Amino acid sequence: MTDKLNLTEDQWREKLTPEQYHVLREGGTERAFTGKYEKNKLTGMYHCAGCGTPLFASDTKYNSGSGWPSYTAPVAGEAVDEVRDVSHGMVRTEVRCAKCEGHLGHVFPDGPGPDGLRYCINSASLAFKPAE
Ligand SMILES: [Zn+2]
Repeated sequence: MTDKLNLTEDQWREKLTPEQYHVLREGGTERAFTGKYEKNKLTGMYHCAGCGTPLFASDTKYNSGSGWPSYTAPVAGEAVDEVRDVSHGMVRTEVRCAKCEGHLGHVFPDGPGPDGLRYCINSASLAFKPAE
C-alpha cells in the first residue's frame, strides 16, 4: 500500500501552478502538442508534479503522434491507479497518481509494447528529472 498524500484544496493551489492544478486536481487536459514533455527525448524519470512519486521512466516513452507524452507502462504498477471514466460520452480508463490521487491522463489499448498499452499523460502532471 502507498501512503496517501492528502492536502486541502488551498494547499494544492499554493503548491501547484494554475495549469498543474487544473490537470491534477480538476481532471483537466492540456491541449495536444502544447505540453513541455511531448517532445522530450532525454533519459531520466518522470515524477508526479503533485507529490514527486516516480511514475514513468524515459525508456518506456515513445512518440505516439497523439500530442501528449506517451508511455508503454508505469515504472511500477502500484505507482498509478486506474479508474473507469465515462465522462465526455466515452468509456475510458483514467490514470491517477496512487499517492496524491492527482489526475495524470488516460490509458488506451493501442500501444506498441508487449502489453499493448498507451499511457497518454499530460505534461502538466509530470516533473522530469534527467538521469545523472
Ligand atoms: Zn502524485
